[in-house]
Amino acid sequence: MRFDEFAKRAARVESLSGDHEKTEEVAGLLREADATPVVARFVQGRVFPAWDDTKLDVGPSLVYDAVALAGGTDADEVERRVAERGDVGEVAAEVGTGGQQTFGSTEQTVEGVQEALRGIAEGSGEGSEEKKKRELANLFMDASSASAKYLARLVLGEMRLGVGEGTVRDAVAEAFGVDVTLVERGIMVTNDTGEVAEVARDGGDEALADLEMRLGRPVKPMLAQSSTTENLFADLGADEAVVGWKYDGARLQIHVGDETRLFSRSLEDLTDSLPDVVEKVEEDTEEDVILDAEVVAVGDDGPLPFQDVLRRIRRKYRVEEMRDEVGLEVHVFDVLYDDGAVIDEPLSERRDRLSRLVDGIRGRSAVVSDIDGVLEERRAALDAGHEGVMVKNPGSAYTPGSRGGDWLKLKPEPETLDLAVTGGEWGEGRRASFVGSYLLSARTDDGYATVGKVATGITDERLESLTSRFKELIIAEDGKEIEFAPEVVFEVGYEEIQRSPVYSSGYALRFPRFVGVRDDKAPEDSDSVEKIERLYAQDEGDGR
Ligand code: AMP
Repeated sequence: MRFDEFAKRAARVESLSGDHEKTEEVAGLLREADATPVVARFVQGRVFPAWDDTKLDVGPSLVYDAVALAGGTDADEVERRVAERGDVGEVAAEVGTGGQQTFGSTEQTVEGVQEALRGIAEGSGEGSEEKKKRELANLFMDASSASAKYLARLVLGEMRLGVGEGTVRDAVAEAFGVDVTLVERGIMVTNDTGEVAEVARDGGDEALADLEMRLGRPVKPMLAQSSTTENLFADLGADEAVVGWKYDGARLQIHVGDETRLFSRSLEDLTDSLPDVVEKVEEDTEEDVILDAEVVAVGDDGPLPFQDVLRRIRRKYRVEEMRDEVGLEVHVFDVLYDDGAVIDEPLSERRDRLSRLVDGIRGRSAVVSDIDGVLEERRAALDAGHEGVMVKNPGSAYTPGSRGGDWLKLKPEPETLDLAVTGGEWGEGRRASFVGSYLLSARTDDGYATVGKVATGITDERLESLTSRFKELIIAEDGKEIEFAPEVVFEVGYEEIQRSPVYSSGYALRFPRFVGVRDDKAPEDSDSVEKIERLYAQDEGDGR
C-alpha cells in the first residue's frame, strides 16, 4: 500500500468520532491493504511489534530538523509553528507544500517507510544523530503533504487517530470474518496486532487458534486490581485464595531458552544490566520456561526500597561494580511457559508446576480459605520487610495484559492509631486472672468515646505486666467487665474503620492489633474521634 493512500485513510479514521465507525473504517483499511501487519501497527502509532523493544529514539527536535531540511526552511521556524499549532503533523504537511521544495513522490509505500524507520532505529554510534536526521529528511522528501503529516506523527509515536489495541482487535475480526475472542487471545500470546491481522487474513479462525507464545518474545504482564479485607473473597469469586507475598521491586518476565532474557513490565530487554539475576535464574531453573517474577534490592538487613532496584536496571555502564553495591533477589511467582504455553492452566496447577521448576528463587505463597489466613500471610510478609500480599483466584488462567479481578492487591496496612485504654475484660480459662482484652477510646472534646477492643498481638508475658499495671487503674467492675481510669495509651494497628452502633464513637476498628504501649504519650495526646472520622471518610473516598 502506498503511504499516501494510508495517510488519506488515516485522515478519515481521525475524522470519525464513533467507535463503531472507526472500527469499520480500520476494518476496510486492513482488508484492502496488502501490507496488513504494517498497517495494523501504523494505525496504532506503532512502528514495530509490541514485543519488540527496538526504539526509534527520535525526539521532537530531530523531527523539526528533518522537516526543516526536507522543506528548505529552518528548524526554529518549524519549532515555532509547532508551538503555535500544537501538532507537528500539521506543520510537516504545511512546510512540505509551502516550502521551497515540494514533498511529493507517491512511490513511497508503508513497507518502505517501515524498513527505513528500522534502519534509522538500528543506526547508532558516532555521527548517528546527523545520519538519522538525513535519513528522516529523505523520508519527508519522498512524502506527499498528507503523508508528511502522518509520518511526523508516526515517528513521534502520536498518531492521534483514537485507535487502540481494542479497535484493531475488533477491526481484524470484522475485516476477516474471524472470532473476536480468538483475535484477542492471539494478541495476548503474540503481543503483535500485525502478526494476528496477517494470520487472521491468511488462515482464519483455525490459524488464530494455533497461535502460541514463543520463547524470547515477551507478553504483557497480567495486572491486579485493588480490593479490601471486607470484600476480598467476594471480589475474587472463590472460596480459596492463593496468597503470594508482594515484593516491592521491579517486575521481570524471565525467558529461559538457549540464552536467558529478562524483560521489564513495559517489555524492555533488561538482560544486560542484570547479569547476577541471569546467573541466579540459570542455577535454579531448567530451559524452555517463561517465568513471572519480581526483582528486589536487598541489603544486610533485608529488602531495600524499590528505588534501589532502579539503580541497577537499564544500567549500561559500571554494571559489574553496581552488582556488588546493590544486591538483588528474584522472587518468581508464576510460570507462563514450560516446554509450551501453560497460561490456560488454572493457577493452582501452575503453582504446582512452579514448585517443580524453581526452588531457591520461588516467591512465597500459601493457599488459604478465609480472611484471617490472608492477614496472617500479610503480617508475615510485612514482618519480613516486604510490601504485603497479592491474593489470586486459584482457578484462574494467566491473562496477559489484563487487569481482571483474578489478582487482587490488598491496600497496604493503614497507619496505627494511639488510643486511650478506658476499660477491659477479664480473660477466660487459663487467662482468667489476666485482663485479656482492652477497650480502646479516642479523644472527644470533653472526654473519650470507645472505638473497639484489642486482644490480638499481646504475648503472655505482656499480659502479665499489663494486668498488674491496669489493676491499679480499676474504677469499677461489673462481672467480667472492668472500667479503667484513662491513663495508658496503646498503639494499635487495624485493617479498616467501619461505622458501628456498638461503640460510642459511632466507629469501630476492624481487626485491631496491639502494637505497643505509648509510654511517651498521655491520654490527652491520644488520637481523636475527629481523626477517625477523617480516616473513615478518606477510605470511603478511595472506594474501600
Ligand atoms: P501494583 O504495581 O501495586 O499494581 O502491584 C502489582 C505489581 O506487584 C506487579 O506488577 C508486580 O510487579 C508486583 N508483585 C510483587 N509480588 C507479586 C506477586 N507475588 N504476584 C504478582 N505481582 C507481584
